[in-house]
Amino acid sequence: MYSYRIYRDSPVWLQNTLLSARGFVRGALREGAVFRRELDEVLRSQWLDRSALEALQLARMQKVVRFAANNVPYYREAFAKAGFVPDQLASLEDVKLIPFLTKRDAFSAGDQMLAQNFKGPRFENSTSGTTGMSMRVVRDLHSINRESAFNWRQSIWAGAKHGDRRVWIRGDQIVPSKVTNPPFWRFSRADNTLMMSAYHLSEQSAESYIRALEEFDPVFGMAYPSPVLLLARYMISAGRKYRGKSLRGFVTSSETVTGEHRKLVEEAFGCQIFDQYCSAERVTFIGTCEHGNYHVNSDYGYTELIPQGDGTCEVVGTSFDNFLMPWIRYRLGDSVVPADPNYVCPCGRSFPVVESIVGRVEDYVLMPDGRHVFMMSNMLDAIPNLLEGQVRQESPDEVTILVVPVPGKPFDDEDTVARAREQLGDGLRISVKHVESVPRTSNGKLRVVVRAF
Ligand SMILES: [Zn+2]
Repeated sequence: MYSYRIYRDSPVWLQNTLLSARGFVRGALREGAVFRRELDEVLRSQWLDRSALEALQLARMQKVVRFAANNVPYYREAFAKAGFVPDQLASLEDVKLIPFLTKRDAFSAGDQMLAQNFKGPRFENSTSGTTGMSMRVVRDLHSINRESAFNWRQSIWAGAKHGDRRVWIRGDQIVPSKVTNPPFWRFSRADNTLMMSAYHLSEQSAESYIRALEEFDPVFGMAYPSPVLLLARYMISAGRKYRGKSLRGFVTSSETVTGEHRKLVEEAFGCQIFDQYCSAERVTFIGTCEHGNYHVNSDYGYTELIPQGDGTCEVVGTSFDNFLMPWIRYRLGDSVVPADPNYVCPCGRSFPVVESIVGRVEDYVLMPDGRHVFMMSNMLDAIPNLLEGQVRQESPDEVTILVVPVPGKPFDDEDTVARAREQLGDGLRISVKHVESVPRTSNGKLRVVVRAF
């Protein structure tokens, strides 16, 4: 609604006003009457028992599959090729008859993935394209409203109420890069949100961020995990505690979260991380409940966990919304470890539980023998006095660990190499490089592993 250039060159007070105006328009669009109806609905459907949820899923699957077969050229062709007709879908078991959709399929299909004759507003964005295929995702307004409802449900799980004061630290360009002094944040009155720049956060500026947070006293945060962790590590190394009174939790997504991360945030901020896993294609939503368990939100989409033979499962999702661009049996490529199917979460919800999100598809080191080594974040967590780190694989047989040590504390390069060697074995050359900050993706995300070849 306004160009970033105008925003960038405006004084702080005007930036606050522009952000508030944007927040107001977005709020009206995303959180109007339809949103409120959907939020009421999803607050009810979270308490459905398993059989009621399965009935809901089957009805939604039938609707989206029939719609796609009739209106979307890609599916018309793919279903015909696989010999599948929507009438075959009589139970959830029959979902297996529907062909998978791979990233490559969706990428090559282009506009053939869109419903013909669609009328109404379209909202477009792209995935970050870490696998070399930046995917265009087009969504209709209803899907946007419903997404907001699920996001708010997650925030409610984290202890917030709709409209509560929140802090936002994600990939948004909030403060121009040339700015070197605080404030590195702006306030959007429309959605009661303190928007903080993740790009200006460093060991040097951390104290000013904490003070601004304490003064604003948010009830919850929406954040990438990495800035929250940097603040937590900073506070712990400075022997300081967060003094805000209202903070209930951080809702995080987009980067890997480990048990160690949760402990650090609890120690420093005195609250929990409520991590969620979703994708730009909006096919799957897995979020943390009050008891710290990851639940597959089975009223959001149809999520299949396909065993990969090593105890992990690949995530495959079908979106119940977005009839403008349906995603059916989409192979996300990411891996999770499912919990014991008989486990019942004390929160009382029947949504299936996932033990952990093992890795987003790009978060692994590719070994010369073709193996994928995940969970490098655990290795980084164990390194003493490390503020931030990243594993960069420069070539098939060479790995560099980028490190930002905690200033003033000893840092042991050899020990770091030895830890990496323990996880990766002897097949790779491993070195350590000290950097001022770890480079982010174009969306400001911190990747645990970057393969640069
Ligand atoms: Zn639960």
